[in-house]
Amino acid sequence: MHPTRKLYRIKYRPGGNWELACAVCQARLSEDNPHYVYGGTISGVPRRRRKPQTTPQN
Ligand SMILES: [Zn+2]
Repeated sequence: MHPTRKLYRIKYRPGGNWELACAVCQARLSEDNPHYVYGGTISGVPRRRRKPQTTPQN
C-alpha cells in the first residue's frame, strides 16, 4: 500500500474477497491477472467512522 487519497476496491485472488488497494498496487495486481475484478473506487482516505461512507465516485 502506498500513500494515496483514492483507493480501489478489487479482488485479485481466486475466491478472494474485496480488498482495497492504491492505484499503484491496483495496476500491478490487475496486470495479467485472470482473477482481477474491479469494484470501483473510494475517494478520500478512509477513516473509521460510526457511519462508514462507501459511496463510489465515477
Ligand atoms: Zn500500494
